[in-house]
Amino acid sequence: MLITVATSAGFCFGVKRAIKIALETVEKSEIVEMLGDIVHNEQVVQAVEAAGIRKIDSLKSGAGKILLIRSHGAPESVYQEARRLGYRIVDATCPMVKEIHTIVRERYAQGFDIIIIGDKQHDEVQGILGQIGHDALVIERAAALVPGDIRGMERAAVVVQSTQTMANVRAILAVLERHIHAVVFSNTICRATRERQVEMESLPLENDVVIVIGSKTSANTKRLYELARLLNERSYLIQTRADIVPGWFEGASRVAVSAGASTPDETIQDVIDALVSL
Ligand code: SF4
Repeated sequence: MLITVATSAGFCFGVKRAIKIALETVEKSEIVEMLGDIVHNEQVVQAVEAAGIRKIDSLKSGAGKILLIRSHGAPESVYQEARRLGYRIVDATCPMVKEIHTIVRERYAQGFDIIIIGDKQHDEVQGILGQIGHDALVIERAAALVPGDIRGMERAAVVVQSTQTMANVRAILAVLERHIHAVVFSNTICRATRERQVEMESLPLENDVVIVIGSKTSANTKRLYELARLLNERSYLIQTRADIVPGWFEGASRVAVSAGASTPDETIQDVIDALVSL
């Protein structure tokens, strides 16, 4: 059985950077807190908590504490509240996400209606919304677009959650461009996501089985799996080697392995070892 590992599998630049900042910060400081999980991956979350970073649900007194902002970014209100409570802020927001924040703030100031293509409940989208007081329309799928939501819009600036697929973006844009006079589109799908998705356009066709490794809570992992599944129904989403079912590989001579942006290298290597032993 030939095993091909996607060159883009595993931690993206932004996740690597955030974890590095988190670990360096906790080495030097007594109390480091973080609102929610650093990334959507259980193994990484455990490692970061084991290093001493505390996960909190809400901001309390910040005296003598550091608040670590995660790679997904955060709404402006979180920064303001943290400062008010006395926290020192260490910002691990991915620079690609920061770029989306800048675009949105500038276009909003220029009087554009803001449209975000993405998952409304995702932390990254909440962070983008929070740059402009949540005064934006979030669209998840073209089918979910209600005409009333865009009625009366003359000039709209459209940005995209960094981990969306181009197919979903194109479908939504087509509808927007039919109904809105001027649509200014910024393709803010990040490079790491694009590379991963491009590889997933060929790997499922060239292999009998496709394994995508990552957490079921990770949006980019789920999207990667959906792309694979569209082209090859023998595609499986697993979190660790324990999820592998030997029967999946019956008669298979080629297997492709890819992984989401928040999947650690050790987990990927573990899965490869398990496949080799099959
Ligand atoms: S997926 Fe892209 S935007 Fe998100 S953290 Fe990674 S590099 Fe940054």
